[in-house]
Amino acid sequence: MKYETVIGLEVHVQIKTKTKIFCSCPAEFGARPNENTCPICLGMPGVLPVLNKRFLELSMKACLATHCTVEPMNRFARKNYFYPDLPKGYQISQFEFPLGTNGYINININGAKKRIRLTRIHMEEDAGKLIHGENLGSPGKSYVDFNRTGVPLCEVVSEPDLRSAEEARAYLVELKSILEYTEVSDCNMEEGSLRCDANVSVRPVGQKEFGTRTELKNLNSFKFIQKAIEYEVARQTALLDGGDAIKQETRLYDADRGETFSMRSKEEAHDYRYFPDPDLVPIKIDKAWVEKIRKTVPELPEQKRERFIKNYGIPEYDTGILTSSKSLADYFEQCVALFPHPKTISNWMMGDLLRELKKDGGDIADCPVSPSALVDMLKLIESGTISGSIAKGVLEEMYRTQKSASSIVEEKGLKQITDSSAIEKIVDEVIQANPRQVEEFKGGKEKVLGFLVGQVMKASKGKTNPGMVNKLLKEKIG
Ligand code: ADP
Ligand code: MG
Ligand code: ZN
Repeated sequence: MKYETVIGLEVHVQIKTKTKIFCSCPAEFGARPNENTCPICLGMPGVLPVLNKRFLELSMKACLATHCTVEPMNRFARKNYFYPDLPKGYQISQFEFPLGTNGYINININGAKKRIRLTRIHMEEDAGKLIHGENLGSPGKSYVDFNRTGVPLCEVVSEPDLRSAEEARAYLVELKSILEYTEVSDCNMEEGSLRCDANVSVRPVGQKEFGTRTELKNLNSFKFIQKAIEYEVARQTALLDGGDAIKQETRLYDADRGETFSMRSKEEAHDYRYFPDPDLVPIKIDKAWVEKIRKTVPELPEQKRERFIKNYGIPEYDTGILTSSKSLADYFEQCVALFPHPKTISNWMMGDLLRELKKDGGDIADCPVSPSALVDMLKLIESGTISGSIAKGVLEEMYRTQKSASSIVEEKGLKQITDSSAIEKIVDEVIQANPRQVEEFKGGKEKVLGFLVGQVMKASKGKTNPGMVNKLLKEKIG
């Protein structure tokens, strides 16, 4: 039997505010355990939560950037469950009145655009974190760090529109990119600012109804998300092929073993007994407020990609890379403004510059080679002062030393030899030294010319112009 995969994602995003959702404790990552706590986020009796307005506005921005309707009436609800990292015994979340509804995100899959619908985006607080003693040399003990309780989150819930692990990954890449472009979240996956639960089911091709799903919890890297879904699809397929049923359950992914395993079944699932939080007033959001926030939404990745293709005539592949972050796209546009050769700039950025950046894990925003420095180097190639192959070394040196291209070329004597008698001399030497190849060329073996040109380039340490060498060799041999 052939099966089709069906996936819906629930993504938790930490919103980039200075302080927590209902108190003024810092929301930053990396403080000493329990340093960022107060009676409110510790859930002491008698305290009152007050909503962080900045958080609400950034959440509205996230809704608008994903084409959600910002609902005029919002209410927080208590989601009740017991867990040691949840001091109040309930999490403040939204239930029947979420902030955003009916949005969508477009993804590109095999060159085609596909729309993934969003069910809702709602606001909630994060829970704390348990640190198990095994990792600290005290097995059997567990410690609680409440720094994360009350950190503001948005949960983005998709419709079950995704049809493969690859689509799920593409969706998450696009969502992350939108949240970064809008500066709603830093989306740092290692620090847990972006976490994903994947709901996965399979159904026989052609069947209308969805199959029974399992939920894979807390996937925090693109690699794990893809691997966990692929494993889960294979597991479910094998079960159905063997005549077994899928159990609805929550599963966890064990990255070391590359497998998912059951955490709890549907029967053990929580009954959250949601009810409106009586400590927080409902929030009314009027149109004017929504419009004010809409004005803060910048050009989004999808729009930018389309504009780059249209305005700069660069291939879709290049565009995808250049718009993968806003800072990379800005860098590119600053270069183009100084030197209107988009494809040349794109080639140098995607190749040599990104390779250097990758080596030390740097971001383009801190790139030691500024757009104008890169352009100065490209102008040296354009004017014939240096060859493209010499330029590669020059760029590396610029990256390391932050010197300008022209000063490196000057210091190291890398200028192309333009004096034709000097080039002729080298060409003559190469002809002398390679009589067999010269005969072969005369005998009609055209390919040998490339070898001879290479020899001249080598002898001149790359400082001759290949076109000119080509011409000279042909004249002299032919
Ligand atoms: P819950 O709140 O229990 O997690 P929801 O109905 O809100 O359940 O669904 C959560 C997610 O599961 C959504 O992203 C939805 O698209 C997805 N989903 C629902 N049914 C299926 C299914 N049969 N297969 C895959 N994903 C599903
Ligand atoms: Mg769920
Ligand atoms: Zn606090």
